[in-house]
Amino acid sequence: MSLGEFEIISRYFGSRPAREDVRVGIGDDAAVLDSRVDKKLVLAMDTIVEGVHFLAGTAASDIGYRALAVNLSDLAAMGAIPSWMSLSLSLPHGDASWLQGFASGLFELADRFDVQLIGGDTVRGPLVVTIQVGGWIEAESWLTRSGAKIGDGVFVSGTLGEAAAGLALLRDRVASGSDAEYLRSRFLRPEPRVSFGRSLRSFASAAMDVSDGLLTDLGKLCSASGCGASIDIDSLPDSPPMRALFDEEQRLQFSLAGGDDYELLFTASTDQVREVMAADRSGVGITQIGVIDEQKGVRCVRKGVPHFFKDTGYDHFMSAKA
Ligand code: ADP
Ligand code: MG
Repeated sequence: MSLGEFEIISRYFGSRPAREDVRVGIGDDAAVLDSRVDKKLVLAMDTIVEGVHFLAGTAASDIGYRALAVNLSDLAAMGAIPSWMSLSLSLPHGDASWLQGFASGLFELADRFDVQLIGGDTVRGPLVVTIQVGGWIEAESWLTRSGAKIGDGVFVSGTLGEAAAGLALLRDRVASGSDAEYLRSRFLRPEPRVSFGRSLRSFASAAMDVSDGLLTDLGKLCSASGCGASIDIDSLPDSPPMRALFDEEQRLQFSLAGGDDYELLFTASTDQVREVMAADRSGVGITQIGVIDEQKGVRCVRKGVPHFFKDTGYDHFMSAKA
């Protein structure tokens, strides 16, 4: 069944539980929110495009989940508390069962983080989903990419490369079993590290989320901070499911250049390493993978010797993705 624009909005997006700070939500010309004197507003926007960020044929519920997850990950990287979102949806058809699935994945994640949908736009076109999220942070406590200092340790949450391994397994339908399922879910349903990002505010000198690949993203953090970094390849977090299905070179490729993990990459003074580890109440797993130094760029060391790596990550205007 194909639905019109008004029906799509009212049926799937219109009537949702309301937050107290949303005075006017969906249905008017714009939303009206309470502002706060004691906090700063944090905004982020991310777009996902069929064939670029997810494969054609991906379940609608996974698309809805992922569109919000990648945005919440940006707020997590700033240390913010998410609170609302707006949604721009470009759809080839007003397909009721697709919309039902999309809304179920989207609101499953939104409800977990108490994020309210406050408006958006719905148009006909290729499948493209843009979400803008907004949240709050205590004054002066936000995290940025630009605060890394020479001598700081470089840390990551979780296990890098699993999402890229999962994408490879989504393309290749042959592999089955629990390891393959786990890796696929790491691509389809990334977990935004919101509470871990909050805990980083007290000691991280810089932070960002890993969306385009470790080497590319660490390069961005280093250039924002005016420094470089050296990565010890042997210290990258180990993933048993990746080890079960991919050889060492493939795993390295996924971990260093894969992207889509939405883990947090951060720097902190090495004296605070214990504090860094203690912050891991959420159980995400924290690994020190390198150090910040003064030499420009990101360098890798493998078994004590420099290791050169050509494919460093994803750039929309330089290479092809999904
Ligand atoms: P306008 O013509 O004033 O831009 P629309 O008819 O596009 O308004 O939208 C009507 C209402 O529905 C607005 O409040 C808008 O924010 C909301 N809306 C439209 N599309 C979406 C969507 N995909 N998700 C959430 N709200 C939406
Ligand atoms: Mg209007």
